[in-house]
Amino acid sequence: MEKTMAPCLLLSLSLLVCLLSSNSSAELQRFHHSPKSDGSLSLIVVGDWGRKGEFNQSQIAAQMGETGENLDIDFVISAGDNFYEDGLTGVDDKAFAESFTNVYTAKSLQKQWYSVLGNHDYRGDVLAQLSPVLQEIDPRWLCLRSFILNTEIADFFFVDTSPFVLKYWNEPKGDQYDWREVAPRDQYIDNLLQDLDWALKDSRAPWKFVIGHHTIRSVSEHGDTEELVEMLLPILKENGVDLYINGHDHCLEHISSRNSSIQYLTSGGGSKAWRGAYTPNQDSLQFFYDGQGFMSMQLTSAMVEIEFYDVFGHVLHQLNLQKEVRSYFKMIGRG
Ligand SMILES: [Zn+2]
Repeated sequence: MEKTMAPCLLLSLSLLVCLLSSNSSAELQRFHHSPKSDGSLSLIVVGDWGRKGEFNQSQIAAQMGETGENLDIDFVISAGDNFYEDGLTGVDDKAFAESFTNVYTAKSLQKQWYSVLGNHDYRGDVLAQLSPVLQEIDPRWLCLRSFILNTEIADFFFVDTSPFVLKYWNEPKGDQYDWREVAPRDQYIDNLLQDLDWALKDSRAPWKFVIGHHTIRSVSEHGDTEELVEMLLPILKENGVDLYINGHDHCLEHISSRNSSIQYLTSGGGSKAWRGAYTPNQDSLQFFYDGQGFMSMQLTSAMVEIEFYDVFGHVLHQLNLQKEVRSYFKMIGRG
């Protein structure tokens, strides 16, 4: 009896230690989305969209529907600033239906949406936007602060970037930010970066993509986000992240890192777009369209094909990345 109790006691103790240690840093929640039976996956990324169909949101939604049909997409990613100007007022805010359910009506878009929060979402009732009640209203909706989506061929790491930006805390300029369950800032960021670092080191997927609302590199209105360049980017570089995908700047962009393999992709053209802002940075600009549109991704374990589209569905820019396919197949048939 004693012999069988000992391992149980050890297990209980180690579980307790795990629970205690996870208090300071909870593991990021994980979701799974299987690729198609041929091992491929396709999706659309859109950011900065929720304007009740206005500022061409409906036209872009219609084009997303057509592209989604052509590519037989598996899911949609929202890069944040989901509801303008000030997020949702509560789970009963009609803006949820007016800006999401009633706009993205195309058949191909009736898939799971994986969403992060933007700074405009933080100006409303954030807990409402994160609430499972919204999933009862529209089952496509899934929005968390930070989480991981495993798809076997790629791991997508969604990162809550608004709390990084100091001016939202120190100079809100009349805007109210809902920092419930976030403050104090430093501890929140430390925990998040540690969780992300662990999860990236643990990832065995061929591709690692990180999605956040704010830019790391951008030549448009908002430019680089210094807090992310300082705190987030080193972790992405250290862990061989392939793509950083964001919204926030209302444009489409592709920038290559000068000193790592990271590609920075902005898909923030979901509705109102800005024109005229251009400030070069130290990295290598490959493509910049200061207008409305969205981005698609098609991937297998060996390649990623990315396309940027304007409001008319024209392909403006294409990017192809390849991974070395491990030659384990050479072993087959030699036994
Ligand atoms: Zn934003």
